[in-house]
Amino acid sequence: NALLEINQLNKSFGRSKNIVHALKDIELAIEEGELVTIIGPSGCGKSTLLRIIAGLDGEYTGKVTLAGEAIKGPGIDKGFIFQEHRLFPWLTVEKNIASDLSLSDKDVRRRVDELIELVKLKGFEKAYPKELSGGMAQRVAIARALLRNPKILLLDEPFGALDAFTRAHMQEVLLEIWRANKTTMIFVTHDIDEAVFLANRVIILKPRPGEISAVVPVELPYP
Ligand code: ADP
Ligand code: ADP
Repeated sequence: NALLEINQLNKSFGRSKNIVHALKDIELAIEEGELVTIIGPSGCGKSTLLRIIAGLDGEYTGKVTLAGEAIKGPGIDKGFIFQEHRLFPWLTVEKNIASDLSLSDKDVRRRVDELIELVKLKGFEKAYPKELSGGMAQRVAIARALLRNPKILLLDEPFGALDAFTRAHMQEVLLEIWRANKTTMIFVTHDIDEAVFLANRVIILKPRPGEISAVVPVELPYP
């Protein structure tokens, strides 16, 4: 069985005359260790699909299971990264990463140091979000999302607000993390270069109605 299985997923907003069918009859399976990108124009349902997988939206019909279990709310088995970093401005980098766990716990301390290394933020442990560049802040958000070793990492246009140079760098960093951890990732973007560059499989969502029009395997140029 695949790590993530989606069958006959339908999602609409509003009702009667004003109904919007955001997702229609979605069938999708994602294997453990895949880095799948979802691409499609604005409004095609990318965020809606990701939010359902994340457990942030439970109002749908159909079946969505992670590791064989129906998704019930957010929970620590899923890590989510938004376009904005959503860090706590009053907490240092290391405290943002530790989240609600205590850094005085030895295991937490070790894990946070490991993650700081992984996202290349050594030396910035005690910095505050306002002292970081956009790319650095997003790296903190990635580290925080990885803290509890989620089964799946969900990224909603995480680099959309970054300049082209930083964005290209962040794509490299994300691939390094993926190679090092083999964390299953779903990455939503409307940038086709980014989608193809990152993915081992690209899912294309049609503009309207929100149904999958193609699933394109991509040959990865690296192991
Ligand atoms: P994308 O992420 O691909 O830009 P979304 O998933 O945000 O697309 O939106 C899909 C469709 O659902 C759009 O037509 C959008 O207007 C609609 N939609 C999304 N969220 C809501 C909401 N909270 N209320 C009403 N309509 C919504
Ligand atoms: P937005 O998300 O604001 O609509 P785009 O997705 O078009 O913007 O990308 C923003 C900028 O980043 C553009 O100038 C684009 O050319 C550049 N860009 C997009 N993808 C890449 C990439 N893979 N490598 C380098 N630059 C990129």
